[in-house]
Parts: sequence; structure tokens; C-alpha cells
Amino acid sequence: MNVLEIRDLSVDYLSGSGTVHAVSGVSLDLRRGEILGLAGESGSGKSTLANAVSRLLRPPAAITSGSVVYHRQDGTAVDVLALGGNELRAFRWKELAVVFQSAMNALNPVSAVGAQIDDVLRAHAPRMSRAERAERSVELLQRVGISADRRRSYPHELSGGMRQRAAIAIALALNPEIIIMDEPTTALDVVVQRDILGEIRALREEYGFAVVFITHDLSLLMEISDRIAIMYAGRVVESGTAKGLHRAPRHPYTMGLLRSFPRLRGPREELLGIPGTPPDLRSPPPGCAFHPRCGLAVDECAVSLPVLTPGGDGEVACLLNDGTGVS
Ligand code: SF4
Ligand code: MG
Repeated sequence: MNVLEIRDLSVDYLSGSGTVHAVSGVSLDLRRGEILGLAGESGSGKSTLANAVSRLLRPPAAITSGSVVYHRQDGTAVDVLALGGNELRAFRWKELAVVFQSAMNALNPVSAVGAQIDDVLRAHAPRMSRAERAERSVELLQRVGISADRRRSYPHELSGGMRQRAAIAIALALNPEIIIMDEPTTALDVVVQRDILGEIRALREEYGFAVVFITHDLSLLMEISDRIAIMYAGRVVESGTAKGLHRAPRHPYTMGLLRSFPRLRGPREELLGIPGTPPDLRSPPPGCAFHPRCGLAVDECAVSLPVLTPGGDGEVACLLNDGTGVS
């Protein structure tokens, strides 16, 4: 059962020197209650895709084709790209919430974290009394591991991990069906990161929301995701269960990502397992956009665009995919 269906979605933006094809023809399902990991190097279109789906794209970025359909529990379907005004505001908190890359930027620096939850509740749940809102704020903070007495703390008084937890509590305020987390833990140390991800999984069990978790750190996704989609140059190049991808990655790019151990220090973009750099999306290479970096490329790869076909327990966009695996 899908809670969200993305079909053939494309996003372009105009830069001074040409049109950047940030997302190209992405089709992706999010199943109810699952954790879907979205991986790929920076610039692969992960954040742009998430922003398009949550209707947070800002000009000059624009959706040029495709659809996003949200399925409510009661069976009604919502055309997300057609939402406007109040409907869109309600959708964004009650159905889908976003936890941004930097919790410091997402939180209001001049408002205590408890008050920020209260603001969301007051705006979107007008029937709640002041006392109910206060109770709910404390409950939400406690659920993410923040004690009740910290509700009066301002973001700068909290550690990075606590700020991240506060941002998650705010996202949970109205019981959304979908939570999109865009590299929410990148700035945190590994231990705090693992803790928070464990808690997201536990909260998911309790509340039943689906999560789209975005990061370039595939090893992290392997630990916490049910399914994973890999993006390269604005397209999904492989999807499958976390187990399946771990055991038998099919796309040469996924194989490279798996060989790229994330470094604890230094530029996180650097991927040790893949030579070269991601393409310029103003003029992506013809054929398979990965071909200039692919160790398995054949002549046809520079000519034919591979489409997603069944492979492993998901789909693979590689000309060498024959349904059993890239040899
Ligand atoms: Fe490599 Fe060709 Fe497959 Fe692209 S289509 S990933 S270049 S083998
Ligand atoms: Mg990003």
C-alpha cells in the first residue's frame, strides 16, 4: 500500500549558464509506514526531489513534468502538485512534515522549543486548548528524549543532538503520515547519530509514519532503511530492499557507493570507491550519465539511456541488467 506515488517527476532550474536538469523522470513509491532511504552523491537530486514532493521548491527551480499523489488512510487520493493556500499548509504539517538538513536553521532561534511546538499546534489544531497544547508539547519532547524542563530552552542552549531531536518533535506535532528527513544527522557525531536513528525507527513503530531519509551515507541507510533508492545525476538508478542492496548491489554506481567508506573527517563528498566527479547537469553525458565513471561501460552506454527494469528485489537502470545481476 503506497502512501505516496511519484511519477515521472522532473525539476529544472535556470542558472546563468543554462538549464540544470536537477531531477529527471523520477518515479518512486513510498509505502505506508516504511523507511525509504534515498542515497547518492551531493548534486544527485535527492534534496531537490524531496523539496518538490513537499512543495518547498523555490524559483528558479520548477517542476517541469510528472505527478505526486498522496493516498490518505481513508482511500482518497490527493494531487500534491495541485495543492495551494490553506490546503497546502495543512498538507505540509498534518500529512507530511520535513526535518531539514540543519536543525539550527529550521528552529526559530528566538523561541523556546516548547513554544515552537505550541505555535504549530495553535496554527493547525485550533480546537486544542492551551493546556492540551502544553501537555502535547511535553509529551512530544519526551518522546524524542528531551526532558520536560528543557521545553523552555532556546535552540542555542541545546546541543546539536538535542536540537535535532527538537526538530523531530516539531515534525511529529500533528501526527503526519510522512516525514522527510534531509541529512538530518550529518553534523552530529556518530554515536549521537546512531542513537537518533534508532529512535526514529522506534517512533515509526509507535506512530506508523513513513520516512524518506536522505543522505549520501549508504552504510547508514543500510542500517535503518527498509528500502533504498539510489540517485545519480537526477535519476533513480537502482532501488531495492536494504538487505538486497547490501547483499547484491546491481548497479555499478551502487557498488561504488558501497565501496566508499564514509570518512569521519574531511570533505564528506569524496567517494573513495568511484573515480571522477558527478556530471554537470546542464549538459549531462548522453546515454547512461554514469558512463564516464563506470568501470563496466560498453560502447552502447554512451548512446542508450538505460531505463529501470526489474533486478534483484527492486529495479535497476543499467544496460547490463538482465534481471539476475550485473556481472
Ligand atoms: Fe555502467 Fe553502462 Fe550500466 Fe551505465 S549502463 S551503469 S555505463 S554498464
Ligand atoms: Mg542535499
